[in-house]
Amino acid sequence: MSDPDLSAAGGDETIPLIDLPPEDSLFSEALTSLLRACRKPGGETDSDFQILFDGSPDMLLVLGPDGVFKDANPSFLNASGYDIRMLKGRSVLEILEAGYREGFKEKLAAISRTRTAPGESLPREIFTFRGLKPDGSSASMECLLVPVRIHGRSWVLAAIRNLTLERRLLEELRESEEQYAALSETISEAIFRIDENLNILFANSGAQSTFGYSRDELVGQSFRMLFPEEVFRTYEDVFRKYFYVDDKDRPAMGLRRTLEVLGVTKNRGVTPMEMSFGNSKVFKERTLTCIVRDISHRKTLERKLRHLAYHDRLTGLANRELFHEDLQAALSGLEKDKTRKHAVLFMDLDGFKQINDTLGHDRGDRLLVEAARRIRDSLRDADTAYRLGGDEFTALLSGIRKVQDALVVAERIQASIRQPFFLEGAEDAPVSVGVSIGIAVIPDDGTTVLEVTKCADIAMYRSKDSGKGRCTVYDPAMDARVAERWRMAQEIRTALVRGEFRLYYQPIVDQGGMIRGMEALLRWPRQDGTAIPPSVFVPVAEESGTIFLLGKWVLHRALADLRALQERNLRDVYVAVNLSGRQFEQAGFAESLVEAVRGSGVDPGRLRLELTETTLMRNPAAAAKRIQDIKDSLPGLRFMIDDFGTGYSSLAYLSNLPVDSLKIDLSFVANLSRSQNEKVVKAIINLGHSLEMGIVAEGIETRDQRSYFVERSCQGMQGFYFMKAAPLSVVLKRLERQLQGIPPFGEEAGLTDAAGA
Ligand code: C2E
Ligand code: MG
Ligand code: MG
Repeated sequence: MSDPDLSAAGGDETIPLIDLPPEDSLFSEALTSLLRACRKPGGETDSDFQILFDGSPDMLLVLGPDGVFKDANPSFLNASGYDIRMLKGRSVLEILEAGYREGFKEKLAAISRTRTAPGESLPREIFTFRGLKPDGSSASMECLLVPVRIHGRSWVLAAIRNLTLERRLLEELRESEEQYAALSETISEAIFRIDENLNILFANSGAQSTFGYSRDELVGQSFRMLFPEEVFRTYEDVFRKYFYVDDKDRPAMGLRRTLEVLGVTKNRGVTPMEMSFGNSKVFKERTLTCIVRDISHRKTLERKLRHLAYHDRLTGLANRELFHEDLQAALSGLEKDKTRKHAVLFMDLDGFKQINDTLGHDRGDRLLVEAARRIRDSLRDADTAYRLGGDEFTALLSGIRKVQDALVVAERIQASIRQPFFLEGAEDAPVSVGVSIGIAVIPDDGTTVLEVTKCADIAMYRSKDSGKGRCTVYDPAMDARVAERWRMAQEIRTALVRGEFRLYYQPIVDQGGMIRGMEALLRWPRQDGTAIPPSVFVPVAEESGTIFLLGKWVLHRALADLRALQERNLRDVYVAVNLSGRQFEQAGFAESLVEAVRGSGVDPGRLRLELTETTLMRNPAAAAKRIQDIKDSLPGLRFMIDDFGTGYSSLAYLSNLPVDSLKIDLSFVANLSRSQNEKVVKAIINLGHSLEMGIVAEGIETRDQRSYFVERSCQGMQGFYFMKAAPLSVVLKRLERQLQGIPPFGEEAGLTDAAGA
């Protein structure tokens, strides 16, 4: 295996000592000894060399400056599968993959030219190449070229090693890194690779555009530069965790898949960013890839959406949803800090409805906007005002010490609201409203959203009750009646949802005992068998605003029942529906009524609406206009004044009201025997006749009462004498008799029925 040339001794040139430093000692100790042997003066050098050459575990080649093989040691021949005879005279370049030949050749040439002075260290460059085996397969190798002198001639010693797994990985990594860099350029997000010291190793062009720095300004710098100092301090440890915890283990370790943090850019300052992480480990080196997205756009959108969902459009105040959330948060926070109290102010404007009705919706809205501003401005920055709807507001005062603190705020709000409102377009006629306030203290008055709200609402009710413009602190001993009314208002809401209400009908009979119409009367039968009369729950519904829903339900039910009558050929029976004052005065009522009637397909001539005298007299001019508008839209529809005689109508107003009939209040009917009452009834009948209005007497309970009104040509009579209000099916039975021409409430029939139904 040895070349005879090599055994000849000689050498006048000094080859410097090669000591491979331990960290790049890729080659064995034996190689170091070999190289040392090369520089030993004297004849034994060559023979030492030969021994070391043949026995070396490293693959060694002796090459000419042009790369022609002079020798190859057994390690090389065994590992490569080449026979020495195949190699002799050929160039090493021939057993390299084509792509590596040029580089190898250059390195050979460079090494061959090297002449170093004694004591100077040799250039030692280790490089990789892919070598070809005799079977055509190839393998990655690394190589160290060293100039040696043998027999006085210059050769190049090539020490070759299979590329270790480690080195191969590194090599692949470099390749993949190139791909990685190329790929990362196609992505608009910022991509950083950072090392364990949180220094930036790599930044793509997305990183440059996102943060406004050039690559040079980023690479080599601390990741810290991309965050406000406090943010970095908060997240520093978290970033480090991402180095060591793989993606799949993150949830278990309490690490989020993405982080939303504030970053700081060169030109645009602090900006919300979203970060996700991928860690990698190559040998001992861990790196972290961070993908950073600028989410300021998304944040703005989210804020806008959140604002929309949680704020009242008209006033810009927080809305009911946010009130509940904030209140919930305040209640949850109590656990932690037992020394703190909060207060809820429940507010309702006094006199707003009238302004809305007289000045119109637009100005009403402006007033609300201005009132909202005044309420908000009366609060500290830390406190929040909310609009629950209509003219109802709340405020959450956090961290108060005692209830007096809340009272001070309430007084400030009241003083501010009391100032005149100069509404746009009506600056010369300022209007004024007041505000009734109820206060509940957390946790004293409750520990749930519902409890606290209820207490504040009850206290507010109490303020209204005792003369408006007041402020009341909730007191558990507070008027049970107010609490009861509050509870009932809630129950009405639930009952509506559950469909617990019923609409009964009480016939209105003419002088011949025929049914001309029937009054729709609400009934609320309850599960426990008790019934709350409408005279109790209707005012509560009015007060709490549920009347709008309730009234709507009544109207739709009545229209549906009218259709049912129509389908049974009962075409000339009318239905009278009671309207509450608030319902009638509500903006948009006329439109919804017209729509409901038109949509039902019912002839408007079969519908009558009852309004109490009190409602009409509140603002007769506005009422007259409203009634006329409705009648214009629904020709044939008629209005009746209910409970007539109790409202102190002015005759002048009455004659101007486009109403069609009067209903004598039952209190006069009940006490006809009293001459005073009898006179009133007589006067009403005369008035009705002279204004050409129909007259209905209600509350007829006896045969005498009936006779009285029959004698005085009263067109309609209604009362227990005929029949109490009953479900439609019951009234229908009577109506079927009537269809056959038999008066259901004839002279003789009346008495028997008086106690029935
Ligand atoms: P109202 O409109 O004056 O209705 C007449 C009331 O007198 C009814 O009481 C009726 O049952 C009762 N009544 C009828 N005949 C007699 C009688 O011979 N003797 C006596 N003592 N009472 C008689 P109800 O049903 O309890 O309703 C009371 C009030 O509740 C109604 O007075 C009306 O103002 C209101 N109401 C009832 N239903 C509705 C409704 O659907 N909407 C509105 N807004 N209010 C309603
Ligand atoms: Mg009525
Ligand atoms: Mg009545």
